[in-house]
Amino acid sequence: MYKVGHNMKIALIHVMQETDTFNPVPTTLTDFKNVALLEGASILSRVDPNGPTAGFLEAIRTSGKDVEVVPILRADAVAGGRLSRQTLSALCKIIQSGLSAARKCDGLMVFLHGAACAEGVDDVEGEILSIIRAGVGNDIPIALMLDHHANVTNKMINNTNVLMAFRTQPHDPFETARDLTMIALQLFSRQISVAMAWRKIPMITHQEQFLTARGPMKEWFDHARQCEARGHALTVSLFPMQPWMDVEEAGWSVVVATENDQASVELVADELAQHAWSLRNQFMREENLSATDAIKFADDSVRRIVLLSDTGDSVLGGSTGDSTVILRTLLGAKIHHQALVPITDPVAAKHLATCEIGATVTVNLGGWANNFYSPVEVTGTLQAVREGIVTLPDLPQGSVDMGKSAMLRVGSVSILVTEFPGVGGVHPGVYRHLGVEPGEFKMIVMKTASNFQYMKQLTTDFVRVATPGPTQSDVRSLPWSRIPRPMFPLDEMKDWRA
Ligand SMILES: [Zn+2]
Repeated sequence: MYKVGHNMKIALIHVMQETDTFNPVPTTLTDFKNVALLEGASILSRVDPNGPTAGFLEAIRTSGKDVEVVPILRADAVAGGRLSRQTLSALCKIIQSGLSAARKCDGLMVFLHGAACAEGVDDVEGEILSIIRAGVGNDIPIALMLDHHANVTNKMINNTNVLMAFRTQPHDPFETARDLTMIALQLFSRQISVAMAWRKIPMITHQEQFLTARGPMKEWFDHARQCEARGHALTVSLFPMQPWMDVEEAGWSVVVATENDQASVELVADELAQHAWSLRNQFMREENLSATDAIKFADDSVRRIVLLSDTGDSVLGGSTGDSTVILRTLLGAKIHHQALVPITDPVAAKHLATCEIGATVTVNLGGWANNFYSPVEVTGTLQAVREGIVTLPDLPQGSVDMGKSAMLRVGSVSILVTEFPGVGGVHPGVYRHLGVEPGEFKMIVMKTASNFQYMKQLTTDFVRVATPGPTQSDVRSLPWSRIPRPMFPLDEMKDWRA
């Protein structure tokens, strides 16, 4: 059953994609291949130093335990629309055949996002965990790492023995996987048993208070850390669900794991759920400007560079990357300084790739993917064209594929046109790949509402722009149909008790 010398065997399964159900473009196997789609031994030969597998391996090393790791699947895609049916069934088939080839394991380490949906399936992670449970039986413990923007469901909890979510936004996959593995190693060797308690909270709030270093999110997350420090729980996971999942079991949650004391852990779960509810109006505090005001602020600012966060078209949050809202406003604004804007448009990117550098080109840009946007026609000078994968070691996935990409200059506005959304222009490396130094611009549009860390060294200020789109901050006006009601802040709710 074991290789000679090993005293524990752990299978490893990793599937991470964050779905925005308001993005109508399906996520396919190609989208996974563009980031990572690996099976078997190849997973361990391509370990990202900041990723969860590195944290898992680090914990095994420091434990001194002799563990045979059986890697089955690593599938990563950028956030986007629901997985196509074929994509989900292809991933499930790899898991099923990997589990039967692995034979009997002592435990499973599973890294999932927790906010993935597929065509006709609201709860992809619940589906995957059921398949894993069916494959290994009820006696083999499953340890689960989730992104804390997950929508936790009954199916996920029922098929998991211990669970830990990211503790910070920006996220900490290495540290979370490392700390979860330390608990899991004890669970897998039957040194401890774990019980869990969880609560669903009927609320969804916008992204502008999602950073864990400040505001109500800091207060709530600090509370969880205090419960752990006082020994009230083995691990506390908080889930401020990302607010663009129109699904049956949507809502925030709290999951608490304990080594033995089920009664006290139920109280901890109640306390943390009630705390989130009590902060609900603070979570709804908005900090944004209209596109016109944001551009004027940046153009007038004495500070060197201002980031303009395109909150409605956050590629890292699952949007399409084709918003023309800020671009159109910039082109009409007669700005005095230089601006940099990313946009995803496969047709325009492929066309620009056939044009000569220095040529004057007229193209339609953006507004192709969803009803939130319409295309804008621009005439500009083609400055650079590139293709291929950009290596960015400080990204969780280590690199990004933007497909065919081009820099087009229209007056004071330089536009990065890409075939794939990539990272929505959040990293200076994607511009440097095309020979453009973002540090020379006055304002930089980024298609994220929270991942500002990569541009931090270049910039001194940022403004959230209140733009529409699949990741808009205005959660009330999104076209909800499946989410359970009543739900704060969509409905009048006088009070709620955990
Ligand atoms: Zn997240």
